[in-house]
Amino acid sequence: MNEMPTCIGCGAQIQTERPGELGYAPVSSLDKEEIICQRCFRLKNYNELQPVSLTDDDFLRILNGLGERKGLIVKIVDIFDFNGSWIPGLHRFVGNNDILLIANKADLLPKSVKQAKLINWMKQEAKKLGLKPIDVLTVSAHKGTGVVEAMEAIDEYRKGQDVYVVGSTNVGKSTFINRIIKQATGQSDIITTSHFPGTTLDLIEIPLDDEKSLFDTPGIINHHQLAHHLHSSELKMIMPKKELKPRVFQLNAEQTLFIGGLARFDFIHGDRSSFTVHVANDLQIHRTKLENADALYEQHLGEMLSPPTTQYKDDFPELVRHEFRVKEGKTDIVYSGLGWITVQHPNVVVAAYAPRGVEVFLRPSLI
Ligand code: GDP
Repeated sequence: MNEMPTCIGCGAQIQTERPGELGYAPVSSLDKEEIICQRCFRLKNYNELQPVSLTDDDFLRILNGLGERKGLIVKIVDIFDFNGSWIPGLHRFVGNNDILLIANKADLLPKSVKQAKLINWMKQEAKKLGLKPIDVLTVSAHKGTGVVEAMEAIDEYRKGQDVYVVGSTNVGKSTFINRIIKQATGQSDIITTSHFPGTTLDLIEIPLDDEKSLFDTPGIINHHQLAHHLHSSELKMIMPKKELKPRVFQLNAEQTLFIGGLARFDFIHGDRSSFTVHVANDLQIHRTKLENADALYEQHLGEMLSPPTTQYKDDFPELVRHEFRVKEGKTDIVYSGLGWITVQHPNVVVAAYAPRGVEVFLRPSLI
């Protein structure tokens, strides 16, 4: 069998079977002398970056390649999925390079969230994961808020070197880079061909000045992301589109909340308290008695408790129980990729249920 050719833009091996993945090009393009993948084609002709995803092995290969280069690494994370959008092992590959952390989707945060607390929390989390970012910024790539400031910061911290943008899928990396392209270049033909002849780093290059460039790396699929357990139509329901409206519930002990069919929250022990739910406004929340909760989930998953929808509920992972004794008031129970519930009062025992693999953890309230 003949080896497939490589893309003249990014060097990825061309494949014609998996649209949306690296190196995809339609079969018709194989006749051409110089083959360009769909991702590079769109960037070249429409100045638009298309999200692509990669397998873990390919991604590690790219990260390894980055470790050998010098430059500023810009890591994009989703504020709502900080843990789900973390790249495992990133700290090992950063090497001596500086890393700038940019948290995206700030437009979704309720106004009550304190910016300083958010940034502080992200710094601490990054530290736990072995990284010490040179700075932490928040942006909304979607609305453009903070993007100019982020570009200025990138320009300062890169100290004349190249920039590598990394992120897992769905964090909004493409949206962010598309903003940068629009604001910074305005050029029609921004990728040039064969930057790395003989290599397959699969990077896309966007010039920053005459010598240095910003490189987009493909997004890694992080299997812990809630998003990967849902069908795209269901995903639309859980991805908040607008600023979250906090919903407050006064609960007695032994009451349960269901967030669609995606997650569950049991108030097990403590005085009557209020709990503030921060999830997409379109998601329905159902309150029931703890003693009825198991049966309710069994009988109504996919209908009253949805998403997941009836059609896809059999593929949805089982919910796993995580129990917490919350000693301090104003503590968030965070469901990665979904949102969080603020426990307002101290000394309660609660249990949070999330799909297997999706992280649940405590954090001091951001409000
Ligand atoms: P990528 O996989 O990281 O390249 O992510 P995309 O740029 O394709 O974005 C993933 C999803 O997040 C899309 O549905 C975007 O519309 C959405 N998105 C990206 N940036 C923002 C943002 O700043 N705010 C909000 N609310 N949604 C965003």
